[in-house]
Amino acid sequence: MELRTKLLIGGEWVAGSSRFPTLNPATEETIAEVEEAGADEVDAAVRSAREAFADPKWRHMDPHCRAALLWRLADLVEQNAEFIAATETRDNGKPLFESGKVDIPFVVANLRYFAGWADKLTGDVIPVSGGFLNYTLRDPVGVVGAIVPWNFPLNIASWKLAPALACGNAVILKPAEQTPLTALLLGELALEAGFPPGVLNVIPGRGPVTGQALVEHPGVDKICFTGSTATGRRVMATAAAGPKKVSLELGGKSPNIVFADADLDAAVRGALTGIFYGKGEVCAAGSRLLVERSVHDEFVEKVAAKATSMTVGDPTDSKTRIGALVSAEQRDRVLGYIDAGREDGAKLVAGGNRAEVDGKGYFVEATVFDEVDPGMRIAQEEIFGPVLATLAFDDVDDAIAVANHTIYGLAAGVWTRDIGKAHRVARDVQAGTVWVNTYNRYDPASPFGGFKQSGFGRDLGEIALQEYTQTKSVWVALDG
Ligand code: NAD
Repeated sequence: MELRTKLLIGGEWVAGSSRFPTLNPATEETIAEVEEAGADEVDAAVRSAREAFADPKWRHMDPHCRAALLWRLADLVEQNAEFIAATETRDNGKPLFESGKVDIPFVVANLRYFAGWADKLTGDVIPVSGGFLNYTLRDPVGVVGAIVPWNFPLNIASWKLAPALACGNAVILKPAEQTPLTALLLGELALEAGFPPGVLNVIPGRGPVTGQALVEHPGVDKICFTGSTATGRRVMATAAAGPKKVSLELGGKSPNIVFADADLDAAVRGALTGIFYGKGEVCAAGSRLLVERSVHDEFVEKVAAKATSMTVGDPTDSKTRIGALVSAEQRDRVLGYIDAGREDGAKLVAGGNRAEVDGKGYFVEATVFDEVDPGMRIAQEEIFGPVLATLAFDDVDDAIAVANHTIYGLAAGVWTRDIGKAHRVARDVQAGTVWVNTYNRYDPASPFGGFKQSGFGRDLGEIALQEYTQTKSVWVALDG
């Protein structure tokens, strides 16, 4: 494979209205100049998707043939996994083991999982009154605009397009402007797999330009969005003019709760992967570590010592645990929050500095704050970087109150050997995912999404099919 830099519209690679550079955040070098879709190209993509959606070749394709296309796409991603993973790491800055061992294999598994649903979208026969047969059909929603962020570029793209395509929709994928490259590779493989032209269009570009035009376009039936809560609000307001269907996967400030009776060594590892996996640029990052007071000092000391020893640097080096943040802007935002933590009186116990490799790159050390008050900015706002805020709690009620004291509700972790306590927290914590004695577990079959201002709608699992189908009720008179 080779890098693609043009827009994929209607099965053709076409120029955009302008171009923008995409950088390697570890070296600050420009990897490529990528075409940006302006309003005209967005319109062309929507028209091509509408035609593809209406074309009987796709509209009436046997469901098992849609499944076969998705399987073929999964096979092609798998065959090209090394190049795709390397490209993801260059564009995003994440360690190669994350792209190669986690992200791209998940894309493959996810495509296969939803391929399996393509021929299992059944309706119901409903026992209505009178002489009628009533049944339901599950129609695709039509043209789906998928807008995705830069932290798991291809992975989250697959969360949207695999179920959307399995259900028979046509998709326009807009990757984040920081990380457009792997989405374009996927577009190429979709053509090779044999998806009809226009069924998957890929249009890189900036949010306020390409994203906004896509959400505004009357020819788009549904927007599935993953990104920040602030942008999600804007997307929903714009979509209201349609109105068009919207699902939003937004930010988080997830609590990772450690009770004194937990396997503390496992919990230390869970606390570290909870926040430092993906450089903390993870929507479900366990960015608030809540530790029961009786073990708090000892526990935080261990977490801080391990954080200090984590290797920050070249994402292609297998020893690296923390790669480069995605951009200079994101690095500065994270450093701003580290300053805010100091100003608000939290105690810095690990990291706290920017780092560089050969004088380049947007790196920040693994950072841990202790003595964090639940009201502080670093305990309330999503930092989206390798910064952990540690808080102490007294008992289960206190832990749940502190855990829920945020506008977000994406995920939570709980560490305890007491099965009742674990289920009690799982019941009472306001979060779309709860991990017990583990953290950051995902599977294509298990739903993922937010409570509260972390959004609504669900990716992954059977429930995701609801986002990409609409129910039609059919009445048939049985007596003449
Ligand atoms: P972002 O909101 O800045 O951008 C997300 C996407 O929206 C990008 O493709 C961007 O170009 C586009 N966009 C920006 N402005 C737009 C507009 N006006 N109209 C339409 N599209 C627009 O988010 P980001 O910085 O790329 O990603 C980080 C955020 O994503 C974090 O808040 C993180 O928590 C969240 N996230 C959530 C999940 C989840 O599943 N809940 C997963 C990953 C990331």
